[in-house]
Amino acid sequence: MEYELVIGLEVHVELSTKTKMYCGCSTEFGGEPNSHVCPICLALPGALPRINKKVIEYTIKSGIALNCSINKKSRMDRKNYFYPDCPKNYQITQHRFPLCSDGYIEVENSEGEKKKIGIERIHMEEDAAKLIHTKAGTLINYNRAGVPLIEVVSKPDIRTPEESTCYLQKLKNILRSIGVSNCKMEQGSLRCDGNISIRPKGSRKFGVKVEIKNVNSFKALEKAFEYEYLRQVRAVESGEKIVQETRRWNESKNRTEVMRAKEQARDYRYFPEGDLTAINISNEWIDKIRKTIPELPYDKVERFIKEYNVSKHDAEVLILNMRAADFFEKTAKLSRNPKAAFNWIMGDISRLMNEKSVSLSKLKFKPEDLVSLIRFIDSGMISNNIGTEIIEEMFVSGAKPEEIIEKRNFLQNSSEDEILKIIKKVMKDNPKPLEDYKNGKKRAIKFMIGLVMKETKGKANPKIVNDLVNREFNKN
Ligand SMILES: [Zn+2]
Repeated sequence: MEYELVIGLEVHVELSTKTKMYCGCSTEFGGEPNSHVCPICLALPGALPRINKKVIEYTIKSGIALNCSINKKSRMDRKNYFYPDCPKNYQITQHRFPLCSDGYIEVENSEGEKKKIGIERIHMEEDAAKLIHTKAGTLINYNRAGVPLIEVVSKPDIRTPEESTCYLQKLKNILRSIGVSNCKMEQGSLRCDGNISIRPKGSRKFGVKVEIKNVNSFKALEKAFEYEYLRQVRAVESGEKIVQETRRWNESKNRTEVMRAKEQARDYRYFPEGDLTAINISNEWIDKIRKTIPELPYDKVERFIKEYNVSKHDAEVLILNMRAADFFEKTAKLSRNPKAAFNWIMGDISRLMNEKSVSLSKLKFKPEDLVSLIRFIDSGMISNNIGTEIIEEMFVSGAKPEEIIEKRNFLQNSSEDEILKIIKKVMKDNPKPLEDYKNGKKRAIKFMIGLVMKETKGKANPKIVNDLVNREFNKN
């Protein structure tokens, strides 16, 4: 029998507000353990929560960017559980009335067809403390307790492991671009759990779902889904029953393992949070937030393809860093050479930024300066190689390309007479390449071109050198 994979994802994203969700403690990552705490986030007797308005704003912003409806009336609920990382013995979250619902993210399936993955809801909740298990016992760091989170719950619309990665990548890029989270998986500010089941192809009924936890990369999640699909198919085929449970991904053994039986919603005994009032959102506030949302990354991709004729791949590389996308757009527009703009930004400039750990906002030159460099090259006044030397100097000193060209006497020689004179001299000093060429070693011509470029310190127009050396070598 053929089986179909059904996946739904639950993504927790830490919001990048300055302070926690119900108190004024810092949300900064790291810090001395238990230094970002107060009676509220430690749940000392008598302490009462007060909701951080920025959290509501960021959640609405996320909802708009992910095509959700914003629910004018929503509410906080208590989710009861007893675990040391939860000081109140309950988490304040949203159960029945989430702030956002019914959105989607568009992904492409393996055939390149567009497909919408539904988002069932986005709700706000607080993060738990971090447990650190040591030989001496378990330690607790409450710095993370009360840090605001949103949970983005997808509909079970995902059909392949690759689709799940595509969905997550887009979700991450969108949320980062609107500034609500840094989405750093390695720091735990984006965490993902998946629900996976199988069913006979064509069937509408869902199978028993298994939850996958403890994955620390999109790749690991993809592998976990692939493994789990085969495990479930084998189980069903051999007449075994799939049980609802939570499994963890074991990276070193490349398999999922049982963690615990899956809790049911009723285990949490949800009820309304009595210490916080219901949340009423006005249309005016939603509109005001909507206006703060910049062009979203995948709209930019579509536009870059149309307006600058860049490939989809190049456009998707650019939007990984919105500043790079802006830098590209300004340069492309002014130079009318988007290909060169892309190559400089993603080539030499990115390389230099990596080597010297400099971010785009700290660059010493502006798009206008890169535009002049591109124009010098396009007009044949300097070669690409000299361009690289110039950009390296611009990077260090911030000098303008025209200043560097003048100071270092970089202008390219395009005089055929002068170049021919140099070629004749080099050929006289090095007769062997011509001999080799006449004996059928066609590559010798390239060697000669290299010698001539070296002699001119790279300043001779390469096209003229190429043409003239070819002419000289093919003379009888
Ligand atoms: Zn606090």
